[in-house]
Amino acid sequence: PFVLFGNQIIERDHVSIDMEDRGYNFGDGIYEVVYIYGGEPFSLNEHFRRFEESAQKLDMKLPYSIEQIKEKTAELIKANNIHNGIVYIQMTRGASPRAHLFERESACLITGFARKMDPPAEAQEKGIKTYLTPDIRWLRCDIKSLNLLGNTMAKRIAADHSCGEALQHREGLCTEGSSSNLYIVKHNEVRTHPATNLILNGITRQHILEIAGEEGIAVNEEPFTTEELQAADEVFISSTTMEIAPVISVEGDVQATYPIGPVTRRLQEKLKDRIKQHRVH
Ligand code: PLP
Repeated sequence: PFVLFGNQIIERDHVSIDMEDRGYNFGDGIYEVVYIYGGEPFSLNEHFRRFEESAQKLDMKLPYSIEQIKEKTAELIKANNIHNGIVYIQMTRGASPRAHLFERESACLITGFARKMDPPAEAQEKGIKTYLTPDIRWLRCDIKSLNLLGNTMAKRIAADHSCGEALQHREGLCTEGSSSNLYIVKHNEVRTHPATNLILNGITRQHILEIAGEEGIAVNEEPFTTEELQAADEVFISSTTMEIAPVISVEGDVQATYPIGPVTRRLQEKLKDRIKQHRVH
């Protein structure tokens, strides 16, 4: 496979990463995952806008322009001949003798890979089981940073209970999944945590809120409690790789089962429509 290393597309075997790259030592970096449908990346501009925002929030300077990064991403997808799949792009603060203090002018390193992957049809159709656990992450979850230990720990706990995703709450207020945004539906109203520092404002989340607006589905972006999660009519999660997946049960800090409801199905269908439309352009 071919990968992006700096600003070059090279064979993966030819990559050499410094032992003291700050991404490796500190998790000092950011990333994006973009879905490729029919050879075309979906919402590429939105993903790279967020990439720039994450860089800005961490005082990192792009080594070359966003336009060039987009071109390299397109080259990477072509080089690997991806029809359906994902492209992963990350930027670390680069290599320097290990010390906590970073220099603002340090040369950041961009790397990326692409791989084939089909949309998770079964999860989308039949739904997934989830596990609710305390949100132990830091207070800048709005940054798509490489520091994902809270997320990976939560995902492990969920898997240990045979659940496909972890849902998280801070002192009883539901935030998001370990790698997804979280929604409940109650009396036909969609509720999801507001886009504050406590969640990642998903690109898929932004599409869903726009679609809800177009479809006349009420949305309430106020945090909801674990009790409200338990009492929801429908629950679903969203992410680039999942699109929308219905949640059929929650275990852990609260327990409930849910039917796959009409609001979830409608949003799923309309999101698929958006993805198809994009492929035409
Ligand atoms: N929240 C977290 C913590 C994530 O890691 C992700 C994506 O992986 C999302 C939400 C969903 O974001 P997006 O829809 O942009 O993929």
